[in-house]
Order: sequence, then C-alpha cells, then structure tokens
Amino acid sequence: MSDPDCIFCKIIAGELPAQIVDQDERTIAFMDISPATRGHTLVVPRRHARDLLEIEPEDLEATILAAQRLARTVRDRLGADGVNLLNSCGSAAWQTVFHFHVHVIPRYAGDPLRLPWTPAPGDADEIAKTAQALR
Ligand code: AMP
Ligand code: ZN
Repeated sequence: MSDPDCIFCKIIAGELPAQIVDQDERTIAFMDISPATRGHTLVVPRRHARDLLEIEPEDLEATILAAQRLARTVRDRLGADGVNLLNSCGSAAWQTVFHFHVHVIPRYAGDPLRLPWTPAPGDADEIAKTAQALR
C-alpha cells in the first residue's frame, strides 16, 4: 500500500508538508515545490505504485480523472489558457520520484515555458496563495 522510503507516501500519510488542493478516495493532488508555471500540481494515487508500468488500472483511471478535474480548476480559478499533462516513466524519461504521478501544468498564452523545463524551487508564499485559489 505504501513505501516507507517514498516522499509522496509520506505526504499522503501527512508526515511531510504539502499544499494539498484536491483529494478523493483514491487520489491526492498537491502543489509542485518547483513549479514550471503558476498552479503546477501533481496528482498521485494514494496507493503506492512505482510508475506507469506498475499502477493498477483503477488507480490509473482515478488519477487521470483527477487530473481532468484539476485541468478544469486551473482554467476556472487561475485563468489558464491550456494545460500540459506530463508523466515520466523511468529515470531515462526523467522520472525522479518513484511514486506514479501526473503533472498538471497550466499554460498561459505566450508563457515562456519550454518543455522539458529546468526545475527550480518556487516561492513558498506564492505557491500557498495559488493553492488557496484552487481549493
Ligand atoms: P518527476 O521528475 O516527473 O519524477 O517529478 C517529480 C516532481 O516532484 C518534480 O517536479 C519536483 O519538483 C516535485 N517534488 C519533489 N519533492 C516534492 C515535495 N516534497 N512536494 C512537492 N513536490 C515535490
Ligand atoms: Zn509512494
């Protein structure tokens, strides 16, 4: 169910802080600490699965549906003009946290983001404010 060495399992268990913006029976969504754009969130299944190859179908379905819900929320609350969903599977594909997650990256017309982005720590106050707008 959970992996004691996994940082996302610790967030799910409430043992590590996170700006949680959405949750349901199977999933949790929280703000990425190094956002590519304003409102960048991660959706994860509560049940630990390493990656796309291992996740159970019902958790995959719930995670994608939660990502769709968040895509609508960033459009409605943040005025996003578009959204990139991103999943990395395996270190060759740049996966760095080995608990399946879908990045929900809001896009704004003319924004400077070019994928893949170079992650850099975001401003904690700004992330908290944006999380509040999404809840
Ligand atoms: P990936 O490279 O696709 O595995 O993405 C991992 C993402 O997790 C990166 O965008 C990190 O910024 C993000 N991340 C790592 N640790 C945390 C954390 N404690 N809280 C929120 N986001 C995190
Ligand atoms: Zn985990």
